[in-house]
Amino acid sequence: MKKMPINAASQNAEVLIIGGGLVGATLAIALGQAGVETAVVDTQDPQDGLDAGFDGRASAIALATKRVLEGLKIWPALEKDAAPIKDIRVSEAESLFFLHYDHKEAGDEPFGYMVENRNMRKALFHRLRELDTVRLYAPDAVKSLERRNDGVNASLVSGAKINARLSVGCDGRASKTRDAAGIAVTNWSYKQSGIVCTVRHEYCHDFVANEHFLAAGPFAILPLMGGAKNPGHCSSLVWTERTGLAPSIMALDEAEFLAELKSRFGNFLGELEVIGPKWCYPLSLQFAERTIDKRLALAGDAAHAMHPIAGQGLNMGLRDVAALAEVVLDARRLGLDIGEGSVLERYQRWRRFDNTLMLGMTDGLNRLFSNDIKPLRLARDLGMAAVNQMPPLKKFFMRHAMGLVGDLPRLMRNLPL
Ligand SMILES: Cc1cc2nc3c(=O)[nH]c(=O)nc-3n(C[C@H](O)[C@H](O)[C@H](O)COP(=O)(O)OP(=O)(O)OC[C@H]3O[C@@H](n4cnc5c(N)ncnc54)[C@H](O)[C@@H]3O)c2cc1C
Repeated sequence: MKKMPINAASQNAEVLIIGGGLVGATLAIALGQAGVETAVVDTQDPQDGLDAGFDGRASAIALATKRVLEGLKIWPALEKDAAPIKDIRVSEAESLFFLHYDHKEAGDEPFGYMVENRNMRKALFHRLRELDTVRLYAPDAVKSLERRNDGVNASLVSGAKINARLSVGCDGRASKTRDAAGIAVTNWSYKQSGIVCTVRHEYCHDFVANEHFLAAGPFAILPLMGGAKNPGHCSSLVWTERTGLAPSIMALDEAEFLAELKSRFGNFLGELEVIGPKWCYPLSLQFAERTIDKRLALAGDAAHAMHPIAGQGLNMGLRDVAALAEVVLDARRLGLDIGEGSVLERYQRWRRFDNTLMLGMTDGLNRLFSNDIKPLRLARDLGMAAVNQMPPLKKFFMRHAMGLVGDLPRLMRNLPL
């Protein structure tokens, strides 16, 4: 990767990616690795994203997503700190009913891995540095983007100019690229916030992910690798709370916060200690009415942002990456113009159904579980108990959690791009 100095001259690239977060950087690697000249512009200095205080999230990466990271040679830098998710346990408030998924019932491999976002940024940056085909303009921003019939021209705040065949908006939920293209967004707030922190616990988590449903929303206890000396003794929490209540919880002192946390966590992992800072993310659903425009595609949160209830936002974004890279490379091999309408239509058609389904599923699950309505509670308990007793249905859900259902791009099938 070439990091471009301020006032760099113009570049003739094939693809311009606006936003070099987890999704944009992975797309740049996929394209760059295949020899596609790619420019990435991000407003953030990449060094800031590597700081421990930048983003406290850890992401559940499904097995199919891990395959993408392997195919793009990102995985080796991540593997050491990635915790396998061997089992998933779903339970609810005081109920005795639960649902237990054991990865062995679906095959030899784990459901996926827990990866700290900070480590993923490091691994992406490491891989980007190995690719001469990718140029990173950061911190920088697009001042103007002209999308013509035969190509795109971007002027950056630094003064650099980039000409490309295709532009891709990977600039997250508040995508200016999407808004500037006049693409409308369906948007609603869940009136919930996700409090995120890391805890150290007395007993090993045995690499089980726990999703515990409470009336305010899901309380997820997700296994982290933790220190090399004592692996399996740290977990990442996503504690969903009503937005009205979240600020007062965030303002509690250490002992009060821990007491509130314990009352939800329980004592199945022994003594608890919060390590590091805590974060609070407002939760909402967003869905762009289309993911393409003239010489423009959207990917990741810029196209769709969902409730973290099933840990799927990044997985869907990286599915977009695998599909878009495949569509672009197929067109390029045929000598077609990669920014042309029919190429972009194929990408949109391919991803639309999957993304709509996942947005609907996460939204439905959150509505079904985030309440204390008695008849719904009974239905949930019976549903969990029933699925637990139905091996074929259980297996289908497990393959879904692994990201192995649907029309998978080549990278997700362990095939080269
Ligand atoms: C609490 C919580 C837990 C989650 N857990 C999971 C999980 O377990 N598994 C999972 O799959 N997903 C999870 N997600 C979702 C996941 O974090 C997101 O889907 C993912 O980070 C989106 O990545 P992105 O690159 O599309 O967007 P972002 O991470 O928002 O990156 C956007 C990038 O664009 C840059 N940018 C912004 N504006 C501009 C601009 N104008 N010009 C240039 N650059 C710009 C930013 O600097 C940034 O680098 C979770 C989300 C939350 C809130």
